[in-house]
Amino acid sequence: MTDRPLMFFGTTNLDICFNVERLPMPGESLMGALTRHPGGKGANQAVAAARLGLRPHFYTRLGDDDAGQLLLNSLTEAGVRTDAIKVCAGEVSGSALVLVGDDGSNLIVIDPGANSKMTPDMVESATKFIERDAIVVAEMGMPIPALNRLFEIKRDKGFELIFNPAPVRPGLSVAAWKSVDFVTPNQTEAFELTRVEVSDFETAAHAAAKLLDLGPRAALITLGAQGAYYADAKISFALRAFPVKVVDTTAAGDAFNGAFAASMAQRLPLREAVRKALAVAALCVTRRGAQSSMPTAQAVDELLKSQTIVELE
Ligand code: ADP
Repeated sequence: MTDRPLMFFGTTNLDICFNVERLPMPGESLMGALTRHPGGKGANQAVAAARLGLRPHFYTRLGDDDAGQLLLNSLTEAGVRTDAIKVCAGEVSGSALVLVGDDGSNLIVIDPGANSKMTPDMVESATKFIERDAIVVAEMGMPIPALNRLFEIKRDKGFELIFNPAPVRPGLSVAAWKSVDFVTPNQTEAFELTRVEVSDFETAAHAAAKLLDLGPRAALITLGAQGAYYADAKISFALRAFPVKVVDTTAAGDAFNGAFAASMAQRLPLREAVRKALAVAALCVTRRGAQSSMPTAQAVDELLKSQTIVELE
């Protein structure tokens, strides 16, 4: 059977990083080493799925500046379909200035740029790229009115919706929550949404019950090095993370979400889809960077074959 169509909605940023010995004081100039990395949750998720061999559509907004061109190229190179992406004249692309000291401390300034101008109507017109039987993924960095419209359209179009509520912000309508199929917070986001501190699988179960009260069909909470917890009205299960040597946890959640969506598009059974998402996220944290750390299908298959992970009921 062929894969189901897959489409991501979300933000794209250029991360402009300076590695410095220590963070500068106000008014001080320091030397540093510059690197530029494509990022943004929406883009990272789409690239994670593309690395696994899928050809997802992605809707985002970019400016017609150098950063926009670089970001568009990196998405195309990764295998993401960019037909739905708007490159907007006179606007600046989203960017983040990141200073990282040798001790790991950081200073970050973000300009969401063109991302912040996604309107409900723009998102609605991008939904023409959503094909029948599609899986759609959205994240919360998008303007909330645009998200509310996307979720409203879900009720008519009937696609399957995965919602990564990151970063948590208020304003999502009650009806919007009810159109979500899978909500996929990390521990902090689960706490922000439910006020339940998620420290282990037991507390994740409490948080998941509260998440289901908000309206989604299922809750899938990620717990960093511990793994992930799934619950819907009928079943629940917990899967432990793959033990790996951690180098950099940047974009672990994006890897997990992109891979879970890709696995659902590949029609894997639910537990297998979560297991594959855990494998992809585990490989992501063994490498530095965001999009550059997303593993290929081959690397993931090798990890899945070499290790069995324990399911906790
Ligand atoms: P976020 O990156 O959004 O904060 P998490 O920290 O929960 O999300 O990580 C998402 C997923 O990444 C986890 O469910 C797990 O699969 C994987 N992961 C994160 N940290 C580790 C780790 N130290 N070892 C193995 N897997 C990890």
